[in-house]
Amino acid sequence: MEKNRIKENIPCYNKDMVRIVEEILDYPCSCGGKLKKSFCSVEFFGHDFGERACEICTSCGSEFLSDQTVEEIECEVKKRKLFGLEKQVTVVKSGNSLVFRIPPEIAKFLKIHPKKIARMFPLDEKRLAIELSG
Ligand SMILES: [Zn+2]
Repeated sequence: MEKNRIKENIPCYNKDMVRIVEEILDYPCSCGGKLKKSFCSVEFFGHDFGERACEICTSCGSEFLSDQTVEEIECEVKKRKLFGLEKQVTVVKSGNSLVFRIPPEIAKFLKIHPKKIARMFPLDEKRLAIELSG
């Protein structure tokens, strides 16, 4: 198959996401449009996974990540399980102390249970670390 170099802009929902267009692929999109190899910024759980190879339909603008790319991202997410566990918490007052409630998902992940001993220390003015013992 001959590789066609593409020069014109391609239709896409977010043109900023598309920077390099390389070649038209041999198989069509489900809409019947032509697919082109490209790169797009990938974001999951609000975390940036950088630019990854993808396929973009020249007709409907759908973006497809390759199986390999999806696998890479899933692997990275698994490695850093914390991604899905980010929660917003509110400080509440309890006597003279302030209390952060640890959401059950995070408690389960860290295997925290009542009476667990931990050390707490500020990392800087915005971050607090809690180190579990054992
Ligand atoms: Zn399409």
